[in-house]
Amino acid sequence: MGRDNHPSGLFHRDPTYTYPVVDRASGIYLYTEDGRRIIDGISGAGNVTLGHGRERIAAVLAEQASELAYCFSAFFTNRPALELAERVSETAPEALNHAYFVSGGSEAIETAIKLARQYHLLQGKYDKHLVLSRERSYHGASMGALAATGLPSLREPFTPWLPGTPRIAPCYPYRCEFAGCGGNCNLACAVQLEEVIERVGPNRVAAFVAEPAVMAGMAAQAATPGYMAEIRRICDTHDVLFITDEIITGYGRTGRHWGLEHDGVVPDIVAFGKGASSGYASLGGIVIHDRIAEAFQREKAFFSHVFTYVNNPLTARVGLEVLEIMEEERTVQHAHEIGTYALERMKLLQRHACVGEVRGHGLLMGIELVQDADTGAPYATEAKVSQKACLMCLERGLCVSGVTAGDFGGGDDIRFYPPLIITKDQVDHAMGIIDDVLSQLSKEGLGT
Ligand code: PMP
Repeated sequence: MGRDNHPSGLFHRDPTYTYPVVDRASGIYLYTEDGRRIIDGISGAGNVTLGHGRERIAAVLAEQASELAYCFSAFFTNRPALELAERVSETAPEALNHAYFVSGGSEAIETAIKLARQYHLLQGKYDKHLVLSRERSYHGASMGALAATGLPSLREPFTPWLPGTPRIAPCYPYRCEFAGCGGNCNLACAVQLEEVIERVGPNRVAAFVAEPAVMAGMAAQAATPGYMAEIRRICDTHDVLFITDEIITGYGRTGRHWGLEHDGVVPDIVAFGKGASSGYASLGGIVIHDRIAEAFQREKAFFSHVFTYVNNPLTARVGLEVLEIMEEERTVQHAHEIGTYALERMKLLQRHACVGEVRGHGLLMGIELVQDADTGAPYATEAKVSQKACLMCLERGLCVSGVTAGDFGGGDDIRFYPPLIITKDQVDHAMGIIDDVLSQLSKEGLGT
């Protein structure tokens, strides 16, 4: 795709791919310099929840930049950040009332795990430092977040810098590796957390981090009923903080404001990013349980963790406008309704022999592609079926993402997570394109 290789100073990640130049965007559409209109079926990077070209957000950015673009959080605070902390806390469970803002998702995870470690130090639990997580999880690109990430190929080049912390199996009913799944779930994958904590020593475990629904490491996989409650119980038993990575699931993506709301469970720290600014500024952060914030206040303890852009007024002002728009437009309700509709439409694609499973959680959606729907046998990794399918969609005017799970013996998917403002007609259009691509791939013989 694209016109040429853009020989310039900009270092693109993939030298084998020619990146189309996008010069403008509006609503759910991206417009390329060579005159193409593409449905943004992945909301930027899952962040542009309110759609592109929101002049109202551009206006507050300009206004705030003129009034106060920056002041250093080591010496000052500011009204937009103070107000946003209150607003974000209102969206979170009752006992989570303190927020700390950073520049994105990875920074939010770094912040959460460092806060967890310092919290335990304040309790005199000096050995508590391990951060447990799950296979197939994605928590970010920076070292602490990558250490918790369960995707071996992302970790592999950097292993000398990463601790070999054990990870537990994901909650993944379609390919459940435990006896008892398949209609009669015994939550063995959640129970594994307790086994690991007991093996490594509860006195050494600081936190467990998990996404309410996985997307970066596997297509749209929500937790099964009861899973998160069991995780909460295990964390409580062993004084382990439960950190939820709501970086993609937060801000309405799953049809609730936070993904964990579906499970009725209260975490200790919520990490967020992406939809918090709808892509209009670099905003991430954490919301913290009162007992953690109170421990710092009681001990008069300094949180030893700062980035230049902590509690930044400019990004906070965008965050406030995003919440304002979400309330006015009932974005979360819309995401729930349109997500239900989109899932019905996507389930129709199950008639293709290459569709193993269709999964949806609000507007976090995915199709698992398999060689044989009866056995669930995956395609050969080398066939790069996901990549092929994504490129075919792009040629037809729809941007979706997909990953071949080479790390886990194969498995391909197509992921669809459009801006939450998408309409039924636009969903139909996107599903029509995916339908066409699946027909074409079946005709050509996928994986060959
Ligand atoms: N966690 C999850 C679940 C994510 O989806 C992402 C981004 N894909 C991150 C963490 C990292 O966020 P960022 O790229 O903003 O650093």
